[in-house]
Amino acid sequence: MTHTTIKTPDTSVHNVTACALFCQDPRFLRSRIDYLKQEYGIEYGDFDPLAVPGSGKWILDGNADVVLYGAEVAVGLHSGEKVFVFHHMDCGAYGGSTEITKQQPDEAEFQRGQLRQVRTKILDYLSEKKKATPEIILVLEHLGDGEVTYEIVE
Ligand SMILES: [Zn+2]
Repeated sequence: MTHTTIKTPDTSVHNVTACALFCQDPRFLRSRIDYLKQEYGIEYGDFDPLAVPGSGKWILDGNADVVLYGAEVAVGLHSGEKVFVFHHMDCGAYGGSTEITKQQPDEAEFQRGQLRQVRTKILDYLSEKKKATPEIILVLEHLGDGEVTYEIVE
């Protein structure tokens, strides 16, 4: 049997600043980590990551009990005070830009609407579970050429 030991300062960490729900699309992963650090001072390891294809799509489709439970643990057991919900343009879980724009020509506006609905679902769920009400921060990710732009959605 082979064992590998990795040094880490995190072995006694139990609380986090935030929870972050996002799509597992790898085009956004690194820049999202940098964004959280740059704009909020939240380092990797200081948030509970909840990565699923399509992010909040599954919550809206009613298939994301485990994702909602993840948010519950983050704000309950781990004392997180913020929940970030990231959606991105050209999301494959929605069929990509091609499918989305067949139904809604303004893809960004479509995703802003999705994010607002996800926020309501998360708040309703946490309220039902009698958990603290976190600040929910909605972020839409725009893919550029060698860059990602992060838009806060009100
Ligand atoms: Zn996606």
